[in-house]
Amino acid sequence: MHDAALQACGISFRYCRLHVRSDELSAALKAIPECGFVGANLTIPHKASAIPMLNRIDASAEVIGAVNTVAVRDGKLTGYNTDGPGLVRAIREAFGVELKDLRVVILGAGGGAGRAIAIQCALEGCARIVLCNRTTEKVTGLRADAERASGLKSRVEVCGLDLSTEGAREELGKKLLYDADLMINCTSVGMQAGEPSPVPPELLPAQLLVYDTIYTAAMTPLMVAAAAAGARSANGLSMLLHQGALAFQIWFERDAPVETMRAALMEYVWGKR
Ligand code: NAP
Repeated sequence: MHDAALQACGISFRYCRLHVRSDELSAALKAIPECGFVGANLTIPHKASAIPMLNRIDASAEVIGAVNTVAVRDGKLTGYNTDGPGLVRAIREAFGVELKDLRVVILGAGGGAGRAIAIQCALEGCARIVLCNRTTEKVTGLRADAERASGLKSRVEVCGLDLSTEGAREELGKKLLYDADLMINCTSVGMQAGEPSPVPPELLPAQLLVYDTIYTAAMTPLMVAAAAAGARSANGLSMLLHQGALAFQIWFERDAPVETMRAALMEYVWGKR
């Protein structure tokens, strides 16, 4: 999507992928300005470990504790996080609503994507944020971080995500989801073809908006479950697109050609326009 954007804007740069091991990260970051890069994206496992290696950290990346975009300014490296702001745009685009106005349940809040999204919901001031994770210990610290990030405006709750027991299914389905506007799946369940939905259709209320961060298929298993429940849903391609568009905007200090990027991304990920 970045090469398509660069070409559309007549910018003679290329986006390239570099495989950087953890013990090479510091040297690789130093090489970015030296080699004439305008910036970089960072992915797993470098999003958090890069922070002390950068010259400046944008406020939102600091509170999220992860950097996905690095920009070079006067030879210095600044770290940003565009995943959270990308989600805000994706929710607006998919459902025509503002994230800040929603009560949100996050499945898989203990992972990297889940944390970024939970903190973004808190920064937006969502009235209620429920952090669900299979391993509940992984979200207890996040609860305090999210409450702090919201300036104590958000009510942040924690719940387990082992749906194998009737009690857990009751809690998620009857208690949590009926009192929510939006459920965001940040687990990797449903990424591989043939995997089940992380939540069965009978637990999904029809009025719930369902956003699946998974983008490996246009119709993910969770979206199939949402459709069976009569609920509106969207896949994660829009979040991937908008985090990229925001990174482009940071690097080149101009608007990104979003529709060109979307077409390139759809072709790359799903093989279609
Ligand atoms: P991660 O850090 O490895 O986290 C994985 C999460 O999934 C954890 O919360 C984990 O729970 C949970 N999980 C895994 N298997 C599970 C199962 N069988 N039952 C219940 N929970 C399970 O991965 P990540 O980087 O956050 O990525 C997670 C998902 O987000 C992926 O599908 C990825 O494609 C998507 N993502 C999308 C975008 C986008 O732009 N659309 C960006 C980033 C990530 P435990 O903590 O209990 O292990």
